[in-house]
Amino acid sequence: MRSLVAVICLGSGFCLGQTAPSPASGKASTLTKAPTLTGTPTLAEAKAFLDRAQTKLLELSTQQQRADWVKSTFITYDTEILAAKADEDQIAAAMQLAKESTRFSRLKMPEDMARQFKLLRLSLTLAAPSDPKEAEDLTQIATRMEGIYGSGKYCAPGGGSGSRVGAGANGPEGCLDLDQLSDILRTSTDPAKLLEAWHGWRTISPPMRPLFQRYIELGNKGARELGFADMGAMWRSKYDMPPDAFPAELDRLWNQVKPLYLSLHAYVRWKLREKYGDLVPASGPIPAHLLGNMWAQEWENIYPLVAPKDADPGYDLTAILKGRGTQPLDMVRFGESFFTSLGFAPLPQTFWERSMFVKPRDRDVVCHASAWDIDSVDDLRVKICLEINAEDFSTVHHELGHNFYQRAYDSQPFLFRDSANDGFHEAIGDTIALSITPEYLQKIGLLPTVPDSSKDIGLLLYKALEKVAFLPFGLMIDKWRWQVFSGQIPPEQYNRSWWKLRLEYQGIAPPEPRSETDFDAGAKYHVPANYPYARYFLAYILQFQFHRALAKIAGCTEPLNRCSIYDSKAAGDRLNAMLAMGASQPWPKALMALTGQDQMDATAILDYFAPLQKWLDEQNRGKPAGW
Ligand SMILES: [Zn+2]
Repeated sequence: MRSLVAVICLGSGFCLGQTAPSPASGKASTLTKAPTLTGTPTLAEAKAFLDRAQTKLLELSTQQQRADWVKSTFITYDTEILAAKADEDQIAAAMQLAKESTRFSRLKMPEDMARQFKLLRLSLTLAAPSDPKEAEDLTQIATRMEGIYGSGKYCAPGGGSGSRVGAGANGPEGCLDLDQLSDILRTSTDPAKLLEAWHGWRTISPPMRPLFQRYIELGNKGARELGFADMGAMWRSKYDMPPDAFPAELDRLWNQVKPLYLSLHAYVRWKLREKYGDLVPASGPIPAHLLGNMWAQEWENIYPLVAPKDADPGYDLTAILKGRGTQPLDMVRFGESFFTSLGFAPLPQTFWERSMFVKPRDRDVVCHASAWDIDSVDDLRVKICLEINAEDFSTVHHELGHNFYQRAYDSQPFLFRDSANDGFHEAIGDTIALSITPEYLQKIGLLPTVPDSSKDIGLLLYKALEKVAFLPFGLMIDKWRWQVFSGQIPPEQYNRSWWKLRLEYQGIAPPEPRSETDFDAGAKYHVPANYPYARYFLAYILQFQFHRALAKIAGCTEPLNRCSIYDSKAAGDRLNAMLAMGASQPWPKALMALTGQDQMDATAILDYFAPLQKWLDEQNRGKPAGW
């Protein structure tokens, strides 16, 4: 599974509501022991309320994280129930506190207090209706959907005998899990095999469809009780701007980079047509199973198919790592030493003792890579099913970015222990990964010599397949969900509308007819797991903006794609200054602290890929663009 864009339950306060909600009554009784206050609230009461709220939320967040950790590393009937129960307790508390906090909404108070109140109200990604039965339903549905995803397997017809993919499958039933199916998407060039693996994974999601529909109804009901128009509006309220202004801001950023995407799409389509013939149209959308990834969200796995002969990257990190006998723990140590080179303290001993680094052989786990901060102080962990390859080398840097961010803000008040906005959390690790340049690999002894700059086109093309290809996918997921939440997309159009957006933004089409008996959105983790997705789009924009700023601070005068901030204490200090702010300020201030800009700016992507854009323009001359 792709985990660079990985996910995470951040383990901080804002994991609240991550999975499920719960009754606002019942559990909440433990919270309301404070004296019933009447009359005009005072500042002292508001302060006391915040203290009590944060103490309670920290306690429940820690419990919820522990239960969720056990469930995610050992999916069973019981651990699902225990995790759901902890979610219920936590979300009940958050709901109750959010409602209680409205008593102070007209009180004049210092800015940082007002911001804590605001974040308290926005901390949920799923708000429970106050009806206890409905709240319980919502909890169970959310947990169940994630469980269906986590234990999903495609069982080839006839125990694998009538199948292109079943032969290598585990067990007599010829069943394959997501990792195995993803391996086929990544490595095979047999269109029939690719189609079966693509189709196979999408057999797991139709059972989610009625659950998802009910989750939308109940989630919206809870969001309305908190004063939001619907759940989408609740998600969009977290960006220090009006919720209805946020989609336009995303479109502004997308339009900055769209010309580069169109060039990349046109080039890739042409190369795939050379490989697969008429399976790939000359001027239409690209079939979704040919792009090397289960969701066609990043395309770097088809690099060998589209790379020009004279522009290889000059090295193969996967082969180097394997050739050296690199072990999973070594991969993590490489990531850690990047951060220590910037001046950050090493990870705590408990990180090494408590993390899950490889996939267990004897049980179901959620393999999707994630970074955790169990106690919101220093019980940092990662959960990764590491394999020895270049992708996971990057994933490790990405996940540790979350962990170092979590630790940098751990002395903030609990409600501020989060990133400036949720895109920042995802961006930090990736910013570090952009510094995995040939010069860096040579400095840490993985490369004997640095290839000359004539190899840059290969590296840039590879990176564009990963980063630029992702942008429209990162945008369309929540474009789809916001419309589902608002009712603009009714249940009977879930699948059709999904593919309409896939076409519009990505220029991708399904490789076989799809219908409303399918539920293809449910085959993407973040949909059943109730994870907002716009953060990944922002992260892909921000990481280049961060990289451009930090490279300058580190004194790099080379083209942006050749800059690494490894070993720059100056860059580390500046980075830490922003990380330590947590969510204590509106994100434009945090952005300003690092970059000197208070607006998100996708031109750093264009700067980074400038040599590639020029090259693509030459390659694409006379060929159709768009779809
Ligand atoms: Zn992440």
